[in-house]
Amino acid sequence: MALSPISGRDCDGCTACCAFPPIHSEELRKPANTLCVHCVEGGGCSVYSARPTVCRGFYCGWFFLPELGPEWHPNNSGIVLRSESFEDNAVTLLILRLSPFLVSEEFAATVGGWIEADIGVEFERLGPPAHLPAKMRINELLVDAVAARDLREMQKLFAWSLAHIDNTHEWEADSTPMLSHLRA
Ligand code: SF4
Ligand code: SF4
Repeated sequence: MALSPISGRDCDGCTACCAFPPIHSEELRKPANTLCVHCVEGGGCSVYSARPTVCRGFYCGWFFLPELGPEWHPNNSGIVLRSESFEDNAVTLLILRLSPFLVSEEFAATVGGWIEADIGVEFERLGPPAHLPAKMRINELLVDAVAARDLREMQKLFAWSLAHIDNTHEWEADSTPMLSHLRA
């Protein structure tokens, strides 16, 4: 079932999804974790009316989950929910930066709720520019702390998971050349 974005939600100057994903469309190619040549930081897309289908159709998960408040907006949380993962009964949280929100009770309660509902939860991190991201499932790691409502232990395990990805993953280079046929 196709989800519809919630009315009134806005990117509000965020341009994260013009940078983190690799794009392989006919009109536009770019490697992962590289800002699109058409993206003006803080100003958005400079070829908006001509942007490719892949850009027109993408909304992050904040647009679809009414239970997430403004603190979950990527500008505030530093987290992008990968809405593609919803189709697999999973939530992939691309953690762009280590924001104070990651140690909030709201974050722990929501992630804990997903784990208790048997929804797969993955943490994802970006590698160096022009490298593919990496992710890990955290359900099994967190299940006891969630059941015990142990906020401190959950926070420790969140931090451990992020450090584990950052410190142990062998980042794979993305050799996609930057290429665009788009004109404003
Ligand atoms: S990550 Fe979400 S809020 Fe940010 S630009 Fe993409 S769709 Fe908009
Ligand atoms: S074409 Fe526009 S919307 Fe698409 S990635 Fe580039 S800047 Fe973003």
